Amino acid sequence: MKVNQAEFIISAVGPSQYPMDALPEIALAGRSNVGKSSLINRLINRKNLARTSSKPGKTQQLNYYKINSDLFFVDLPGYGYAKVSKTEREKWGKFIENYLLHREFLKLVLLVIDLRHPPSKDDQAMYSWLKHHDTPICIVTTKADKIPRSKWQQHMKIVKETLGADKSDPVILFSSELELGKDELWQIIEQKIGY
Ligand code: GDP
Repeated sequence: MKVNQAEFIISAVGPSQYPMDALPEIALAGRSNVGKSSLINRLINRKNLARTSSKPGKTQQLNYYKINSDLFFVDLPGYGYAKVSKTEREKWGKFIENYLLHREFLKLVLLVIDLRHPPSKDDQAMYSWLKHHDTPICIVTTKADKIPRSKWQQHMKIVKETLGADKSDPVILFSSELELGKDELWQIIEQKIGY
């Protein structure tokens, strides 16, 4: 997809603020600091549209970015941030759960995982929950530039095994620094939104 226009629309704190455009939505889930904002910026070739978050985990909001008149990227609040209280976490859960379960325009969830480390318990829980609810998933392993190329396949294998990933779920090797995986990821997104 050629991105001609990309704009930040809203940080929605509840369903009444979700855009009414009826465009397909691609959500990004992952731990705080995993690189979701960087991934969006890389996909749309902007340095700073999606802010790389200064206060990870603090935000209880869905950040909507509109791409051309074709789709929205919806950046979900990062999970698994230690400084967030249990009540905050539970609130996070309900809010996101509602979005993921009931948003009719949601076409795909990009589950963003740090390629360097085995997926955390939170990553595993997220994956299982999404599978349980039959949500279409694409696993994106990012920060690949931070480990030697010779170890990429080995780390991908660990990610897939730790998540217990289905063979049918695409796994994309990504790096926001190297521009690695960008075309492959766009192909999957385009296919999902019938572009
Ligand atoms: P978010 O909290 O998931 O939105 O994560 P950010 O996009 O803000 O990224 C967190 C930190 O990781 C920032 O310092 C980014 O520059 C860095 N980062 C994100 N993606 C990559 C990547 O692919 N490679 C490298 N080397 N650093 C990255």
